[in-house]
Amino acid sequence: MVTVIQHTGGRYDVHATEFGRSYRWVPDRVVVDCDCGEKPTLTRFETACARCGADHESAVLEELDVRRREDEILHPWRYNGDCEGAAVRETGFLDVEFV
Ligand SMILES: [Zn+2]
Repeated sequence: MVTVIQHTGGRYDVHATEFGRSYRWVPDRVVVDCDCGEKPTLTRFETACARCGADHESAVLEELDVRRREDEILHPWRYNGDCEGAAVRETGFLDVEFV
């Protein structure tokens, strides 16, 4: 049985550059407690433990799916595919804070 230790939601990393700021999207990450003793940080696209090779895909996808449903309840407009907000969501502008 794999235990999910931590889940970090997707976000933008901000990097200061010579001419301003650049934003890099960092996907959702899930930290699991692997049977080998390692605590790998996994994503939807990388679900195997680097140390022992165990695949934690089901635990990772289940965790991400639970969080997605919670987010869908809080932010239903993000998941309404046939409104014009969908285009904004895909560009990520709604998730960027300009300070
Ligand atoms: Zn492992």
